[in-house]
Amino acid sequence: MINVTRTYLPSFEAYCEKIKPLWETRWLTNRGAYALDLEKQLKQKLNVNHMLYVNNGMVALQIAIKALGLKGDIITTPFSYVATTGAIIWEGCNPVFVDIEENTFCIDADKIEAAITPDTSAIIATHVFGFPCNIEKIQEIAEKYNLKVIYDGAHAFNSFYDGNSIFSYGDVSICSFHATKLFHTIEGGAIVCNDPALEEKILLFHQFGHLYDDYKEMGINAKVSELHAAMGLCVFPLIDEIIEKRKFVFEKYKQELKDLPVSYPTTRDLEGYNYAYFPVLFESEEVALRVKSQLQIEQIFCRRYFYPSLNNLPYVEYQACPISEDISSRILCLPFYPDLEESDIVLISNLIAKNV
Ligand SMILES: *Cc1c(COP(=O)(O)O)cnc(C)c1O
Repeated sequence: MINVTRTYLPSFEAYCEKIKPLWETRWLTNRGAYALDLEKQLKQKLNVNHMLYVNNGMVALQIAIKALGLKGDIITTPFSYVATTGAIIWEGCNPVFVDIEENTFCIDADKIEAAITPDTSAIIATHVFGFPCNIEKIQEIAEKYNLKVIYDGAHAFNSFYDGNSIFSYGDVSICSFHATKLFHTIEGGAIVCNDPALEEKILLFHQFGHLYDDYKEMGINAKVSELHAAMGLCVFPLIDEIIEKRKFVFEKYKQELKDLPVSYPTTRDLEGYNYAYFPVLFESEEVALRVKSQLQIEQIFCRRYFYPSLNNLPYVEYQACPISEDISSRILCLPFYPDLEESDIVLISNLIAKNV
């Protein structure tokens, strides 16, 4: 069986060695030594000053919304994982969808202004597949209309834009360290901001809103365990090697598929690309579904990322986003992980060639 992704694991022995001291210290959660160490290493690698390691990416988004005090309408993208819209609604806000760019699949910043009303409090945009949004334009609009900006950077671990970590943009950026993501701690995520006061608030919110006996705010539990942080510490030193291998798989696929009627999203900043996914756009939904089902017969599993276009979710008010709906209907993410065998890439590509 070949799955769309295959979680990268350190050796069993390395992980056991790492967690062994925990049987002595019995300190398993509440900002333990491993969580703090991982946070420090991540900050260095990503070159950001204020980052909190939390238990997952969706809660990271929810805390960001809460910490920025967002209310009313939030402009967002229909082309993302359901957690982006879900976090907005769960926090009592209302998603307003703005269609995406045909080339990057990120929110079309040129269409944002038309969607702004007096009820708009923020823009939550996703760096889809790690490709940067139109950061300059979004910043310009946010300043003009006094809106907050949150970037869902769940796919954007180690993405850089214009020489800076992609997480350094916006009021808050979040990342996911879920087992299916580029870097993982089994479950996990991070909240990044540029403001120490906001960071303090986020820290407080993630631990029930209190510091020892001082109960300051209403909070939630987004703390991480030392067993999760230990996994992160084992995977982290291998990350450059993982990305290097992904790059190889990426280029091999591109080579194998080069004569086929398929296309790909493009990125604003290839220098900062992280090789997190391998999305392919087919000519029609019919072709995409045929490829998916024919590969499935061979026990090869692609995923419809992202489908449905989030403006079509049954619990949101429908607002038309024709580009997102079109792309959602005919995109597939192919199996993509660092140790995907060359022979499997050839096999998958040949099966695709027979069905497009
Ligand atoms: C995975 C993902 C999330 C949610 O992250 P979790 O850590 O799984 O909660 C949010 N947004 C996007 C775009 C994602 O792909």
